[in-house]
Amino acid sequence: MELKDKKILVVGLARTGVAVARFLSECGARVTVSDSKGKEALTSFLSTLSALDITYELGGHGNDTFLAADLIVVSPGVPMNIAQLTLARGQGVPVISEIELAYEFIDAPIAAITGTNGKTTTTTLAGEIFRKCGFRTFVGGNIGNPLIDLVISGERTDRVVAEISSFQLEGIVRFRPRVAVLLNITEDHLDRYASYQEYIGAKLMVFANQTADDFAVLNVDDPLVAACVDTIAARVVPMSRHKVLEQGIFYQNGVITFAWDGQLEHFPTDSFKLRGVHNIDNCMAAFATTLLMGCPAPAALAAVAGFSGLPHRMELVATVNGVAYYNDSKGTNVGSVVKSLESFPGNITLIAGGKDKGGEYTPLADLVRERVRHLILLGEARERIRDALGHLTDTILVDSLEEAVKEAHRLAEPGDVVLFSPACSSFDMFRNYELRGERFVSAVCGLIEEAE
Ligand code: ADP
Repeated sequence: MELKDKKILVVGLARTGVAVARFLSECGARVTVSDSKGKEALTSFLSTLSALDITYELGGHGNDTFLAADLIVVSPGVPMNIAQLTLARGQGVPVISEIELAYEFIDAPIAAITGTNGKTTTTTLAGEIFRKCGFRTFVGGNIGNPLIDLVISGERTDRVVAEISSFQLEGIVRFRPRVAVLLNITEDHLDRYASYQEYIGAKLMVFANQTADDFAVLNVDDPLVAACVDTIAARVVPMSRHKVLEQGIFYQNGVITFAWDGQLEHFPTDSFKLRGVHNIDNCMAAFATTLLMGCPAPAALAAVAGFSGLPHRMELVATVNGVAYYNDSKGTNVGSVVKSLESFPGNITLIAGGKDKGGEYTPLADLVRERVRHLILLGEARERIRDALGHLTDTILVDSLEEAVKEAHRLAEPGDVVLFSPACSSFDMFRNYELRGERFVSAVCGLIEEAE
């Protein structure tokens, strides 16, 4: 892709936008950055670009700026359907996402991991396996560093593992991963998509440019994922936690089996440190991806067995008075909370609530009725959740996370589990899910101090 002297507009100036603008500018493109936020809100980002010759349009987007571009690169936080992008697209201006731009400059084979939940865990696991097997590996995309950082660094890599969001997939043209994984599809981001169908369509784009030389790892336990098998040109590698498969990867009686093209590998899971049924899915996806991309099974097993999970995802914080407290602040949608609840047989005190995303809470009903002894609700969504689930178990509303933890401490009995898995995003009360999780951890630590 020739960039020199091209007029390129970068829309959105957060972490990814900065990296893209820097890369394009250093390649000799004539770069303009447009952001709906004003200068004050963007100071830290602007200062890192101050040495470069970049034109700015801040505090709003102008039609002319978009129409004047030869190419528009959209950052992941910016919706693809804003009026100016629709207008530009209509006039034939190419509009792409950052992964599409980076793809043009990456030679190493790419594993792309997508799905509503489990992307970060699976991406991290696959990265750990590749590294353990001696591959120079870049892990990035939606987590950590954007893919364009790899291109900027000029470092040689053997394998790329990319966590890919539906937003990034909306802006691909040629992006073609060697292995693409679809973990699951449940309702999320309905505040950003016109319909659930549109969200599903964006996820399926990950397979759009694959051919029969590539692989698609599909969780066939998920009906929406299974339904797309026939639309995919790549070789489909099914994965299942419930069914024994002739070809693919599956779980039975504590063992993950990979059976593909005459290769048969067994991975006993009893020594794994990761908790929760959903992590079996994530491990299967990571094994399939890495074995299909050249990793030997023993090293892959060693990498997964040594992995103890990521913070804010079913993280055991502490056991206080015989009650285990789990921080699952990253459980930001209903699908992830379903899996978190499925991971415990019962006696759960569930702390949930936060910023509502417009989806239904009723998929939680059966699990709440069967396994949740106390439901403690906070945040903007607390009334909506109470209306959907409150009649199924003992339910109380609180005003803060600290109060929620205190109530949980009062209500839970030895042997119980207190699970903070909000089913909502954090932005009503916190800057992000990490800070929310840290506040939960501090509140639990406060209980330990009191108990001492
Ligand atoms: P993502 O990057 O897709 O948000 P994470 O690995 O960060 O995924 O996990 C987010 C939350 O989703 C976790 O808190 C966990 O409870 C839940 N989760 C993780 N893996 C899965 C999975 N395979 N299926 C369903 N839920 C999952």
